[in-house]
Amino acid sequence: MHTVIIGGGFAGIKAALELANKQTGKITLISNSPYFNCHASLYSILAGKSKRQSKVTLSDIFAHINGVDIVQDEVISINPEKNIVRSKDVAYEYDKLILSPGMVSDDLGINGVKSHTLSIRNLEDIDKLRKRLEANTKEKIAIIGAGPAGVEFAGALSEWYEAIDEVADITLIDSGNRVLPTFSKTASRLASRKLRDMGVKIQLKRSVQEVKSSHIVLNNGVIPAKNIIWAAGETLSPIITKHVQYFGIEENRVQVDDFLEAYEDIYVIGDCAKASGSGTADGAVYMAEYVAKHIIHTMMGRKSRPYHHKPDIKSVPIGSNWAYVEQSGIYVSGKLGSLTRSEIENRLYRQIMPRVQAFSALNPYS
Ligand SMILES: Cc1cc2nc3c(=O)[nH]c(=O)nc-3n(C[C@H](O)[C@H](O)[C@H](O)COP(=O)(O)OP(=O)(O)OC[C@H]3O[C@@H](n4cnc5c(N)ncnc54)[C@H](O)[C@@H]3O)c2cc1C
Repeated sequence: MHTVIIGGGFAGIKAALELANKQTGKITLISNSPYFNCHASLYSILAGKSKRQSKVTLSDIFAHINGVDIVQDEVISINPEKNIVRSKDVAYEYDKLILSPGMVSDDLGINGVKSHTLSIRNLEDIDKLRKRLEANTKEKIAIIGAGPAGVEFAGALSEWYEAIDEVADITLIDSGNRVLPTFSKTASRLASRKLRDMGVKIQLKRSVQEVKSSHIVLNNGVIPAKNIIWAAGETLSPIITKHVQYFGIEENRVQVDDFLEAYEDIYVIGDCAKASGSGTADGAVYMAEYVAKHIIHTMMGRKSRPYHHKPDIKSVPIGSNWAYVEQSGIYVSGKLGSLTRSEIENRLYRQIMPRVQAFSALNPYS
């Protein structure tokens, strides 16, 4: 059997490892980047940590794993009727296809977002952002989007400015009525307090109408800022949107059945799946484990239990010594939260790479 996996993020890597472990046949992992790019640690790179944490070579992860071909290629089309995916030059036939291309940034149709904001989705974005900030540390910074990404970048930026003896003028803007809207209200309250203590201004219930090179136009005013970070919108990757005739789309995610199947022989996992756990690294890993098990069951003619995700662990770091972590109504925050968050990162990395590599990625100065 040949399983093709698209995407070398948490979901794709974990699925390949699980299938290889059970020797299910040939596995081809196709990713358009040679690296595993960990979004969740980008904020710490901005704050000065080594890039090794967010740039682990895929071929290193699979160096001692038999049966997995790592291919650096961009898949541009899927033909589910013929079980073929294609890049510009190559056609890959599959028996089972696992789609885990993650999400891409979306400007939500707002004028000026593409031309005047900085994105924070990969290392290149972070390099660009850093250079821009270093060029003029006196400029005001605005972050649009007070979800986990916007919040952790606000904290990292504030700390970074402090480290270079500058006072950052950071405004975090969101159209909702609280920061971290997908977390509990306690999280929103504690995170807001921490951000304010760090000097971050929070502007809620402000909807962005347009972004200009020197300011943001809101529904009820204007915020001056030249360094504008976009942390607000994301959408399905083009490899999915080009094939909507095959997939059901719900709330900007691909509909899947109880076994995470979106079309015959095509499974969709990770951020782009409309399933519980979507949107977190932990959820992506969990879906990958489930799908690998389900494919193995199918091969053996056994039935699988429907997919069911355990309650998410949600965490957000604000600066290097403070984090908020919650699961099933229980939370920790502050220094203890930060230690818990480090342990969560450790555990996640160990799920997708050998222990030594995980240690080296997470302890860059060791
Ligand atoms: C700034 C930021 C901060 C975050 N912080 C946290 C956090 O603190 N905790 C947490 O749990 N989650 C966090 N997340 C979310 C977390 O990163 C995702 O849930 C997780 O990465 C999802 O994994 P994935 O494998 O589905 O997708 P991804 O990690 O996005 O991987 C998808 C891969 O597919 C590749 N790809 C895409 N299209 C193609 C194609 N056509 N052909 C070949 N390859 C392709 C991409 O290059 C990428 O390598 C954060 C996200 C962002 C953006």
